[in-house]
Amino acid sequence: MIKLDNIVKIYNPKKSNEFEALHGISAEINDGEMVAIIGKSGSGKSTLLNLLGGLDAPTEGKIYYNDTDISSMNDTELSKFRLQNIGFVFQFFDLIPELTAEENILLPSKLARKKGEGADKLYQALGIQDRIKHYPSELSGGQQQRAAIARAMINSPDVLLCDEPTGNLDRKSGEEVMALLKDLNAQGKTVIIVTHDRGIAQQCGRIIEIADGAIV
Ligand code: ADP
Ligand code: MG
Repeated sequence: MIKLDNIVKIYNPKKSNEFEALHGISAEINDGEMVAIIGKSGSGKSTLLNLLGGLDAPTEGKIYYNDTDISSMNDTELSKFRLQNIGFVFQFFDLIPELTAEENILLPSKLARKKGEGADKLYQALGIQDRIKHYPSELSGGQQQRAAIARAMINSPDVLLCDEPTGNLDRKSGEEVMALLKDLNAQGKTVIIVTHDRGIAQQCGRIIEIADGAIV
C-alpha cells in the first residue's frame, strides 16, 4: 500500500515567490489498484505524482510504501528505491534522443546492474519488437510512448506512475497506451495516472480529484 499522510508542498519556501501547491493531502492507494488523479491544469497533479514517485520531497507530511517512509530517505536511498520499485511514464516520453529505443529501455536495468531479463517479452507485449533498433526521432508518438512504458517496466517495478501519458498522442494511440496500462494493471501492477481528461480517468478503478492543491 502507498500512503500519503498530510502532504504539504511549498515551492520556494521563505522567498518572495513562495507558493503552496499542496495543502495537506492524505490518501491511500492499495496494491494492484488503478487510480486516476484528475484536476485542472495547475491544480497540483504533477506535484503530487512527483512526490509519490520520490522525484521531489514534501515540505511536510510523510509518504509510505508499505512500512517504508520514502519522505525521510536521502537522495542516494531514494534513487535506489525508485529504480527497484517505481516506473515512470511522462507526457513527452522523455526518451534520450541519442540512444536507440532498445538502449533507452535497457538504461534502468544497467543502472540497477541487471541484465534486462525479459526485455524481449516486453517488446513483444508492447508491439515494438521491430522498432527497437530505431532512434526516438524515427518512431511515432505512440511507439515512443510504448518504448517509454517498456523502459518503465524493465526492472519489474510494482508501481507505475504516469503523468498525462496520452496527453501528446492522437486518440487511437492514446487508447492503445491506455489498453497497455490496463493490461499491466491486470497483471497486478499498481498504476497511477495523472490526467485532466475525464474519459481517461473513467477507465481507471478509482478517481482522486484535486483542485487548488486539495482533494475534492
Ligand atoms: P498540474 O500538473 O495539475 O498542472 P502542477 O503540479 O504542475 O499542476 O503545478 C501546481 C502549481 O504549482 C501551479 O500553480 C504551478 O505553477 C506551481 N509549480 C509547479 N512546479 C513549480 C516549481 N518548480 N516552482 C514553483 N511553482 C511551481
Ligand atoms: Mg502536470
